[in-house]
Amino acid sequence: MILAIQPEETVRSFVARTLFIKGKHSSEEVFRKFPKNCALRSDIVLIAEMQGWIGCYGFNKILHKHTNYPRDEVFKNIQDISYSRGEYIDDSYCYGSNRTPAGFCPICVADDIKRLGFSFWRRAHCCELKVCAEHNVELVKRCPYCDKPFCQGGHDLNVMWSACEGQHLKGSSVTLNTDPFELKKAQIFGEILSAPCHLSEEAVLAVLDEKVNQDNNLKLRIWNSRYNQPLGYTIKRRLEIVKEARFKNRLPHGETTDFIIQAILGTYEKFSDFVIDVKAYGDETRPIESLWSTYISGHQESTHFVEENYDQGVGVWCCPFPAKDFLRMWDWRPVYYPCCSFERPKRKGHQPRPERVKNAPPGVQRR
Ligand SMILES: [Zn+2]
Ligand SMILES: [Zn+2]
Repeated sequence: MILAIQPEETVRSFVARTLFIKGKHSSEEVFRKFPKNCALRSDIVLIAEMQGWIGCYGFNKILHKHTNYPRDEVFKNIQDISYSRGEYIDDSYCYGSNRTPAGFCPICVADDIKRLGFSFWRRAHCCELKVCAEHNVELVKRCPYCDKPFCQGGHDLNVMWSACEGQHLKGSSVTLNTDPFELKKAQIFGEILSAPCHLSEEAVLAVLDEKVNQDNNLKLRIWNSRYNQPLGYTIKRRLEIVKEARFKNRLPHGETTDFIIQAILGTYEKFSDFVIDVKAYGDETRPIESLWSTYISGHQESTHFVEENYDQGVGVWCCPFPAKDFLRMWDWRPVYYPCCSFERPKRKGHQPRPERVKNAPPGVQRR
């Protein structure tokens, strides 16, 4: 029998809990082989399949519900119809590692044990946040009995189900949080994780651009010392890029969303008020789940997508926003597919030699 992953439980917690309960030798291979240092797309896909969540849909469902990935994808370009861009066909991204310190809220742990008989590691408590949004208490990031962190070099996640020096984590003392900003941060982060719809990136930036401009301190605040850029400038610049890209039908490169979250924290008390302003901009708000089956299959002149259809067992290709201009450089080699290929305009001089498509897109399972 496969254990069920709990709501808000991290993938790493689920894997560690399964191995702990079933034993290393009797657990399924997927769990035994799950990497500690860096989980790749293929590892996440296998864990999703254990829950019966198949294909691109299952991969994105795990990312959305059991990692902190929504932070990067809830604010989404309106011309992107995929949840995680091309990551479903790319093994170069890392979805969690044992180097990221985990943490827990003692009240959540005690409640879980009362309700379920056991507890687990929650995603919002295993990132940089300091407070539990539900209980307004400080998250415990080091073992209360031996001061080790819950990451590589310290305790592994099993300490949640065993003990340290004979004492269980549920007995940790509770420290009330006294910093209202940390509480707001945790609450807004929680609302981003559980957002039912994508918010248009352009609408988000337009709303924040207007708000941040009304507050000189915030406008000039350096949001990340590495970039040394004022927040107001970063928002304005990205807004210009996104608007121009929409005009030309050319999806802009991905961007960190840290500055967006900082701007929301600086201008709003409640995430729901922000959502109302964003919706008033007029762009469509798309349900998160509606994008789970689709991935970006390529960027050439335009962005191509494949939507997996699990009833028929096929992937449906589409290019809903064909680019309105052509890049002046035609340096890329044309890719030819065995079934059908793009007509390419002829140009003078040297013609790049076409190549046949290398990796076939992943097969689609039938439900
Ligand atoms: Zn809590
Ligand atoms: Zn300890």
